[in-house]
Amino acid sequence: MCVKIADWITSIESGYGEYATWSELDETLRTLLEPVRQVLLKYKKSKAELQMNLKNTLAIMNFCKEALNSLPNPIFIKDKNTRFVFFNEKYKELFGIEGDSLIGKTVMDLEYLPIDDRKKYQDEDIKMIREKSTVHYEQQFRFTDGKLHECLYWSSGFSVPSSDEKGLVGEIVDISKEKKLSRELEFHITQLAEANEKIAATSRMDSLTGLANRYIMQDRVSSLIALSQRHNLPLAAIMADLDNFKSINDKYGHVVGDNVLKRFASILKKCCRCEDIAIRYGGEEFLVFLPMTDLPQTELVAERICSTIRKEQILPDKSIVTTSIGAAQYKKDETMENFICRVDKALYLAKNSGRDRWEVIL
Ligand code: GH3
Ligand code: MG
Ligand code: MG
Repeated sequence: MCVKIADWITSIESGYGEYATWSELDETLRTLLEPVRQVLLKYKKSKAELQMNLKNTLAIMNFCKEALNSLPNPIFIKDKNTRFVFFNEKYKELFGIEGDSLIGKTVMDLEYLPIDDRKKYQDEDIKMIREKSTVHYEQQFRFTDGKLHECLYWSSGFSVPSSDEKGLVGEIVDISKEKKLSRELEFHITQLAEANEKIAATSRMDSLTGLANRYIMQDRVSSLIALSQRHNLPLAAIMADLDNFKSINDKYGHVVGDNVLKRFASILKKCCRCEDIAIRYGGEEFLVFLPMTDLPQTELVAERICSTIRKEQILPDKSIVTTSIGAAQYKKDETMENFICRVDKALYLAKNSGRDRWEVIL
């Protein structure tokens, strides 16, 4: 009889042949065992339900695990005690981790990290889990290829609302390529800025003589005039025009003419101070502004220029090249245009008085 009851219990648990064994028991025993039978049947049902739930939960877990394993970036999850509970395939691949060897360990066990970094990360992990906070910074990691990779490290503490279980999730994104690109971009931007600076400088410069061109006047000469006005300082200007330059071109050709212009520009530089502003004003006309210079001093400069060009043997047959110069000193409250106009008048005087000379105008 005992064997039959044991068989019957086993049959209910296994779900097989239950009624065959049950019907073999005598009537009294069946009445006596009916409550037990009901409990066993209920237990069997909830066990089947539990098994189904477990199967579903496992399927969901596997699904999530595969999703995390398919991510291109290393991901890890830690429990409330900062122990690894999960890391994805990419994490294993990039840090050379065998199987589940790190599960249950903390960052302190990661031998591929320097000890100081491990301590820093461990403190960080503890803080993040406690405060449910997030960190986000750039960090270099050495991967299994032996190279240091510039990465974005992101990690966040969290808690599960239903159980208040705490944990930490982290991700490492390799941004080496982006960093390299941004460095290259920075380099090209710097080069571009330098090129722009050169273009700006050359656009203010006369390409033949290397002197400033007249477009510089507005800015630089305006500030010279403002300075002279404010501090009552002398400011002078001279305008030089090569004499009979057209006939030089006609006789020796434009290449020789160009060379005369270049030589005259260097004479101007030599005869003036570095703070003076020498400008190629037109074809064979040059304008020089001389700050802190009064008229008598300007006359000396004009004379020096006239005598120097006269002495230079620029032309192939050593013929003399001369220049005429007009000079004037800036008058208080005068506009730049008016000032230049007076200097031009002085030059006109020099031309009309026979050339190869300087004239001043008051
Ligand atoms: P003046 O004594 O009255 O100044 O007579 P000029 O012949 O010097 O003056 P003009 O204005 O008649 O001629 C100026 C010449 O300068 C004409 C032009 O071809 C020449 N010229 C202007 N720019 C350049 C240049 O860049 N190179 C050369 N070679 N010649 C130039
Ligand atoms: Mg001339
Ligand atoms: Mg001229």
